[in-house]
Amino acid sequence: MLSRQVAEALRKRETPYYFYDIDLLRQTLESVVSVARKYGFVIHYAIKANYDPHILEVIKEYGLGIDCASGGEMRCAIEAGFDPQGIVYAGVGKRDKEIRYAIEQGIFAINCESIQELGVVDAIAGELGKVQNIALRINPDIDPKTNKCIDTGQADSKFGISYEEVTEKLDFIRSLKHVKVSGIHLHIGSQIRELHVFEYLCAKVNSIVGHLTSLGLDFDFVDVGGGLGVNYDFPENEPVPNFASVFAIINSHLKVDGRPVHFEFGRAIVAQCGELITSVLFNKTTATGRKIVVVDASMTELIRPALYGSYHNIENITSQAKERERYTIVGTACESTDVFDEGITLPRTQRGDLLTIKSAGAYGMSMASRYNLHDLPGAVYSDEL
Ligand SMILES: *Cc1c(COP(=O)(O)O)cnc(C)c1O
Repeated sequence: MLSRQVAEALRKRETPYYFYDIDLLRQTLESVVSVARKYGFVIHYAIKANYDPHILEVIKEYGLGIDCASGGEMRCAIEAGFDPQGIVYAGVGKRDKEIRYAIEQGIFAINCESIQELGVVDAIAGELGKVQNIALRINPDIDPKTNKCIDTGQADSKFGISYEEVTEKLDFIRSLKHVKVSGIHLHIGSQIRELHVFEYLCAKVNSIVGHLTSLGLDFDFVDVGGGLGVNYDFPENEPVPNFASVFAIINSHLKVDGRPVHFEFGRAIVAQCGELITSVLFNKTTATGRKIVVVDASMTELIRPALYGSYHNIENITSQAKERERYTIVGTACESTDVFDEGITLPRTQRGDLLTIKSAGAYGMSMASRYNLHDLPGAVYSDEL
């Protein structure tokens, strides 16, 4: 995270841009890889969290596989040098050309989200004269106790196939000649901070695995998805997520008869290493007395607050003022929800000060847009300063 020296070095760059602490990224990767090794767990990085080429290069060094949500993401991973044999591909709406690309590249598994999709994958694999490994993405019907905008595994969700439908259609699934069910996949949502949710997940997986096995469906691996949350409130207290606790829970609760267990972490790997650096443009006070600070970033660089009401800790990294004031920090976009935070206390903040919006390494740059014809933000890396 940002030291004073780094803040000084950042002074001269044109804002807004993302700053990435590559040492912190490496510590995080070291942690996830070393604890996973202890249990033989396989880790895929959910590339949609951040596609930055330098970040991908570092992640690749640690031997992670990739979890993709589109053909574009698969291509990005493959062009960045990740082995297709370590790629899983989920998504409720896969286009035919994306399925074809996945099969041609020989990826590890297509995580199928409907019975109809299985038929389409079978047909395309047939045309290509191949048999494609797939995982059934089963909707676990679990409340992950997270923001409802980012939960994906409740019964009524658009993601996955209901377990009832899987069991009803087993004969159809078995009749497909060009798909092989190699795994079972579940993903319950994102930013999960209550670790006992992972115990419910294990119980659910155990019953699904046990039941499918008793029905004679054979498969090789279980993929329990991602979703491990990070500490947005106090990032300095928990720069590296507690992988050890989650893995210990999964290891002691999951019963999968020795099958390899796969994870797909996005946020937990990259959120804390990224910060959005922005300059203060203007100060003003509303008729109601609210003190507004207008910064040169907006929802076009970081949409999470506007899209989900997410909280990011904000700090003024250049003000030397002793007095503190309450401010609402707003962006430049023409949208009323383009507010980074309301009523936060900062040292007196004025035009030209640099603010950092922390924990922005995941779903920040990857969700950036060119709304209002803003330029896309650049990136500065701690190891290139
Ligand atoms: C987005 C996603 C992930 C990663 O979620 P995080 O909360 O960033 O860990 C993993 N698996 C699937 C299927 C996803 O859609």
